[in-house]
Amino acid sequence: MMGSPIVLKLFEHDETLARGVFRLIKQQENRLTVNRPDSEVMAINHAAGRHPVAVSPPVYQLIKRAHAVSLLPGSAFNFAIGPLVKRWKIGFQGNSVPPKAELEALLALTRPDGISLDDDTHSVFLHQPGMEIDLGAIAKGWIADAVRDYLRQQQVDDALINLGGNVQTLGHRTERCWDIGLKQPFAGEDALIGVIEAINRSVVTSGVYERYFELDGRCYHHILDPRSGYPLDNELLSVTVVSRESIDGDIYTTLLYGMGVEKSLIYLADIPQIEAIFVTRDRRVICSSQRQFSFRLLDNSYRLERG
Ligand code: ADP
Ligand code: MG
Repeated sequence: MMGSPIVLKLFEHDETLARGVFRLIKQQENRLTVNRPDSEVMAINHAAGRHPVAVSPPVYQLIKRAHAVSLLPGSAFNFAIGPLVKRWKIGFQGNSVPPKAELEALLALTRPDGISLDDDTHSVFLHQPGMEIDLGAIAKGWIADAVRDYLRQQQVDDALINLGGNVQTLGHRTERCWDIGLKQPFAGEDALIGVIEAINRSVVTSGVYERYFELDGRCYHHILDPRSGYPLDNELLSVTVVSRESIDGDIYTTLLYGMGVEKSLIYLADIPQIEAIFVTRDRRVICSSQRQFSFRLLDNSYRLERG
């Protein structure tokens, strides 16, 4: 689902519960996807330049959050990025590097200030024809939190959901934590840099190594820089965020990616509920702080640093 492998861990065999979780994920994906024409999000996109579209209250709240984050000064997170994502097709068949002039034309359609929201009617209006919203950088976090809430409602004490790198955990055994592997970029499925120990926390990783294509010795990955139109290019190979809410983890991985290590560490100093682990191209692993989790390095070819 959602173009990713999904893992649900429960401590008791319960097919009905597991089916309930997967039904919930499917329902939420159906509302938000841009890969099928009939979602709530695509209804907004189809009406771009023509009229506002009313959506369900939860989808409206999600869009409102994505809009606000996209408008932060210098934000690398931009949910109006749809036209660029569609053109690059990274992770899909037919990907190619667009000519610069084409990227510039598309950048004009990716402005979040060209989107109006109406709290009274829960409607969203994209001012220009050709504009498209894409919630790919926030949807998995939102759904991971919805799964956690559903499991809690069902009186589940201990569980883990992994939506393609968006992990959310539930636990009540104070002496035990979940061990969550931090993957080695561009290595085998099971190759780990280290282990994150956390409980009742979300652990979200965004990396350049999950969805990309190579051309003429260059690697083009799926997190685009809304300022240039090209994939984000800096010292980072992955960013992991540990937080209570997975939606925050999903948002912050993209924001911090765009800032790079140095700016991120300064930025995070004032936000104690968000903690991050950065993996750089020169094999450094930098933890912003470790109040909500602890990190164990397994691969000594990486250097562990405190932010
Ligand atoms: P993943 O879990 O797949 O690594 P991310 O949370 O990093 O996902 O989001 C990547 C997805 O978000 C892309 O596949 C695309 O749909 C969309 N996207 C790409 N660049 C941006 C951006 N700068 N801001 C917001 N969304 C983006
Ligand atoms: Mg994200």
